[in-house]
Amino acid sequence: MHPNIWYPYTQAKTAPEPLKVKAAQGAWLELETGERILDCISSWWVNLHGHAHPKIAEAIFQQAKHLEHVIFAGFTHDPAEQLAEKLVSRLPSSLSRVFYSDNGSTAVEVALKMAYQYWTNQGQSRSTFLAFEGAYHGDTFGAMAVGARSLFSQAFAPLLFEVEFVPYPIAHSDAALATATEQAILDGIAQKLSESGDRYAGIIIEPLVQGASGMRMGRSQFLQQLQELAHAHNTLLIFDEVMTGFGRTGDWFACTKVNVQPDIVCLSKGITGGFLPLSVTVCSEVIYNAFYSDDPLQTLYHGHSYAANPLGCAAGLASLELMVEHEPAFQQMEAKHRQHLAALSDHPRLTNLRVTGTIAAMDIITDQPGYLSQLSIDIRHRSIAQGLLLRPLGNVLYLMPPYCITDDELAFIYRGLGNILNELT
Ligand code: PMP
Repeated sequence: MHPNIWYPYTQAKTAPEPLKVKAAQGAWLELETGERILDCISSWWVNLHGHAHPKIAEAIFQQAKHLEHVIFAGFTHDPAEQLAEKLVSRLPSSLSRVFYSDNGSTAVEVALKMAYQYWTNQGQSRSTFLAFEGAYHGDTFGAMAVGARSLFSQAFAPLLFEVEFVPYPIAHSDAALATATEQAILDGIAQKLSESGDRYAGIIIEPLVQGASGMRMGRSQFLQQLQELAHAHNTLLIFDEVMTGFGRTGDWFACTKVNVQPDIVCLSKGITGGFLPLSVTVCSEVIYNAFYSDDPLQTLYHGHSYAANPLGCAAGLASLELMVEHEPAFQQMEAKHRQHLAALSDHPRLTNLRVTGTIAAMDIITDQPGYLSQLSIDIRHRSIAQGLLLRPLGNVLYLMPPYCITDDELAFIYRGLGNILNELT
């Protein structure tokens, strides 16, 4: 641990020390010790195409030679315009305006500001958001407020604005039970919206998979019904696709997979294939027009120094090209996960094996489910010994490999996972 660095999540005395990484290539990291470990989680879900992909590296290098950065207020440039066009062409037709910022939390922060001020600009005061239990939307204040009151936000609870939470509709192997649960949640939302719909600025959800709270997976039809409700009651629907975007659910975006047209979508993480921090909040023309006015007070006052950084946009364009190349890989990964999971399904320490697109997850049966529990620390240690980078979320083990992963590498991951589980029993 370097004495001049405050590493995230390492203050608890039980937290393991960070391992020093010397280099990374494809799906593999090389540690200072010389060990090679396979990045099973695409380094916090960002390295879509693996590490150091030469095409993205080259695009950044070429861009750096003629325009590395420029203020994005009062100026524009080709990489930002081209990336915006490409993103919009892949997103549902309702989404046409791209607002640039620099990380997932800020993409959410911008979405909340857009939604709130959208109503204010029309003379309405709507200050309540509806969000979902278990949600994680980032660690800035607005993003924490719409996140579940969890480890990440509880220290700041008195500073967070009021949000109403409803249960997240977790898919169930019993389809009838899942439908009944979803219906009960939708009825609860419908009741809130019909009693006092003019209080709600918007509904924010991680579509199909709630990430940080443990890869909790839902179903398409809930999202379609949620869209109908939001439209019927005239409130905004925000999809936080910071994790689910760019192929993670097996389609380009969760919203395209489930055929829903949200009013606002937040994207980051995979947007540059893991090379540079960048994010976008994409909204409908209707929302954009509510800010385009003769009154300067109706402007959205938000702009970061590195907004639309040309290197980030160039990386984004190269990453999108690789997405096209990797489309079969991210489309077919669900079936491959299912095959491997079937072999683990009877394991006595596992329950609730699940998969959505490129994301596979399973719960380890334990009486110590905490984030920094001995079990999760133990698994991290054992995974390094197996040549794997795994980072359990409490007792939830999950995989989110890069799309460059080969069949042999995927088999290597599942073999290592089996060994770790056997060591635990
Ligand atoms: N939203 C979701 C759904 C996320 O998973 C994350 C990150 N885990 C964020 C927002 C925040 O993104 P960032 O860490 O880039 O700020």
